[in-house]
Amino acid sequence: MPFTLPPLPYPYDALEPYIDKQTMQIHHDLHHGAYVNNLNAALKDYPDFANMTIEELLRGINKVPEAIRTAVRNNGGGHYNHTMFWEIMKPGGSKEPKGTLADAIKALGGFEQVKEQINDAGLKRFGSGWAWLVLDGGHLKILSTANQDCPLMDGQFPVLGVDVWEHAYYLKYQNRRGEYLKAWWNVVNWDEVGKRYESATKK
Ligand code: MN
Repeated sequence: MPFTLPPLPYPYDALEPYIDKQTMQIHHDLHHGAYVNNLNAALKDYPDFANMTIEELLRGINKVPEAIRTAVRNNGGGHYNHTMFWEIMKPGGSKEPKGTLADAIKALGGFEQVKEQINDAGLKRFGSGWAWLVLDGGHLKILSTANQDCPLMDGQFPVLGVDVWEHAYYLKYQNRRGEYLKAWWNVVNWDEVGKRYESATKK
């Protein structure tokens, strides 16, 4: 099996009270687990693609054979997006961006405004998807995608992304997506987000 479900980097209840234990259990083990299983199943008869990294697969999504392209888009996107999502969260969070990312966020209008714009992008996303802070041609941008589409598919680098599928928040917040989005910032690991930004700007 080319891809495996990475363990959650902290206990299921570590993000309480902002994200509850049961949501984390179901979200990681069952939802992310299913994306990994379905991705492996799709790639079973395509060794050339099964040997690629997940980043290579998503950046080159249009070169993936048509017969499995939708499966790779949905499940490969799901695998990458969730792996990033677990890593950019942390119990207690790390409060605010630092270093070159902090400067870039200041240039985009400031930390508070950027958070508001990402929340707004997440709220306006109809149905399921993600809200993102991406690096696009050297510039930070805020946008949202549908389903499990990943900015890598559009040549952008996802610096930070928040899952706005109902499975990410419904048990605790029900239909109150805005409340979940506001609470989510309490568990963002800005050290990790800063590392993602720096590694992308060096490329
Ligand atoms: Mn999810």
